[in-house]
Amino acid sequence: MRIEHLINGKRVTGRDYFETVNPATQEVLAEVAGGGEEEVQAAVAAAKAAFPPWAATPAPQRARLMRRLGELIAADVAQLSHTETQDTGQPIAQTGKQLVPRAADNFHYFAEMCVRVDGHTYPTETHLNYTLFHPVGVCALISPWNVPFMTATWKVAPCLAFGNTAVLKMSELSPLTAARLGELALEAGIPPGVLNVVHGFGRQAGEPLVRHPDVRAISFTGSTATGNRIVREAGLKKFSMELGGKSPFVIFEDADFERALDAAVFMIFSNNGERCTAGSRILVQQSIYREFARRFVERANRLSLGDPLDDKTIIGPMISPAHLAKVRGYIELGAREGATLLCGGLEAPAVPERVRKGNYVAPTVFGDVDNRMKIAQDEIFGPVACLIPFTDEPEAIRIANDTAYGLSSYVWTENIGRAHRVAAAIEAGMCFVNSQNVRDLRQPFGGTKASGTGREGGTWSYEVFLEPKNVALSL
Ligand code: NAD
Repeated sequence: MRIEHLINGKRVTGRDYFETVNPATQEVLAEVAGGGEEEVQAAVAAAKAAFPPWAATPAPQRARLMRRLGELIAADVAQLSHTETQDTGQPIAQTGKQLVPRAADNFHYFAEMCVRVDGHTYPTETHLNYTLFHPVGVCALISPWNVPFMTATWKVAPCLAFGNTAVLKMSELSPLTAARLGELALEAGIPPGVLNVVHGFGRQAGEPLVRHPDVRAISFTGSTATGNRIVREAGLKKFSMELGGKSPFVIFEDADFERALDAAVFMIFSNNGERCTAGSRILVQQSIYREFARRFVERANRLSLGDPLDDKTIIGPMISPAHLAKVRGYIELGAREGATLLCGGLEAPAVPERVRKGNYVAPTVFGDVDNRMKIAQDEIFGPVACLIPFTDEPEAIRIANDTAYGLSSYVWTENIGRAHRVAAAIEAGMCFVNSQNVRDLRQPFGGTKASGTGREGGTWSYEVFLEPKNVALSL
C-alpha cells in the first residue's frame, strides 16, 4: 500500500517513500510519500487560496461539515482503530473504546463551539469598544506518534471550525490514520485545500512548514527539544506548544487507597506508558509506602502484555526499536543510579508467537527513587514507574515541583483543605484531585515550564486559532 500527500484535495505522489512499520511484528504496513520544501510550498499555497472562501463560509455551515466529519469517523471507528493500533502498537481496547471515538467527539464539540464565538464590549462615555474574532489564516498542525489520530483531530477540529485552513504534518512513525482523516474530510464535503496533509520527517517536512511566512499559527504537540527548536525557527507567529511531561502522582496516607492504586496503575501503564500526562513519578507518603509498593508491583505484574490487536492486551510494544532502546537504557540507568528494581527490567517479556519480534518491554517499577535521579527527572515515555517516598505535605510539594516539566499532576487525599492547598501549590497546567486524567473538552489543556506554552480546549483554543480585533467607535 502507498500513502500519498493530500494537497488541494488531490493525492500527490512523493519524490521518495519511507516505510511505516507495525511495532508488534516489524511488518511494513505502507510506503509513505516523503515530503520536503516543494510539497510544503504547494500545501501552504493551497491552504492560502482556500482560506478566504472558507473563512467567509457562515459558521453554521462549517459546523454542519464538522458534524458530518465527526459522523464519518464515528461510523469508521472499527477500521480506524485497527489501523491506529497497527501503526502505533497502542492496544485496541484503548484505541477502539477511547481514542478514536474521542476524535469524533472533537469534531462534534467544535461544531457546537464555532457557532457560539462571541465577543466583548467595553463601553465608555465617549467610545463603544467591541471585539471581533477573526480566523488567523493558514495553520501548521504538527502531531507526535503517540495517540496520533486523537491529537490530530484535537487540532484540526478547532482550526477548521473557526474558519482557518491547515497543513497537517503527522509523525513519520504513525501517519496512517491522518491520511484517512484527509480523505474523510473531503468525503464530508470540506472543500479541497482547507485540510492538506503532508507526510515526512521533521527536518525535511516539518521545518519548512514552521518557517513558511504564509503560516500564521502553529499548533505543535511533541517533545520539548523539538518545541524549543520550532519556537526558534518560526519567527513571529502565534503558537501553542504541547510538550513533554514528568507528572507527579501524589498519594497521602489518608487517600482512598484502592482508588488511588487503580488510578496510579492506569496513569503510568495505559497507552503503553507513551503518554504525555503519565503519572510517572508516584510520590507516596512514608506510612503507606511499603504496602503501596507491594500492591502496585502485584498489579504491574498482572498486566497482560501482548498483541495490541487482542482486546485483552493492556500493554503493547513501544513505537520503534529506537524508542525501545531508549526505554531500556533508562531501566539500565535506574539500576546504576541506585534505585531498587521491584519488577520488570531488561529481560524480554513473554509474548505470543505472532508478535515475538515486537518492541516489548515489561512493565517496570523502581522503588526508593530519589527525585534527583535521572529516571525521575527525564521523560522516559514508556511503562516505567518511579516510586518516591515522602514524609509530609511540604516535602511532597517540594518534590512534585522539583522538575523541569509542568504538564499534569495528581493529588490523592481525603483532606479537603490539603487537596486545595496542594493543587494550588503544584506547578503544572493541570491537577486532578482524587482522579485519573479525565478530559473535558472545555478545560484548558496544556502545560507550563518545559511542558509548553499556550492552552487548547474550549474557548482556550481561541488563543491560537482566532485573532481578536478591538473596534473603537466614537459616540
Ligand atoms: P517529536 O518532537 O520527535 O516529534 C513530534 C512531531 O514534530 C513529529 O511530527 C516530527 O516529525 C515533528 N518534527 C520533528 N522535528 C521537527 C522540526 N525541526 N520542525 C518541525 N517539526 C518537527 O516528538 P515525538 O517523539 O513524536 O512525541 C513524543 C513527545 O510528544 C513526548 O515528549 C510527549 O510527552 C509529547 N506529547 C505531548 C503531548 C501534550 O499534549 N503535551 C501529547 C502527546 C505527546
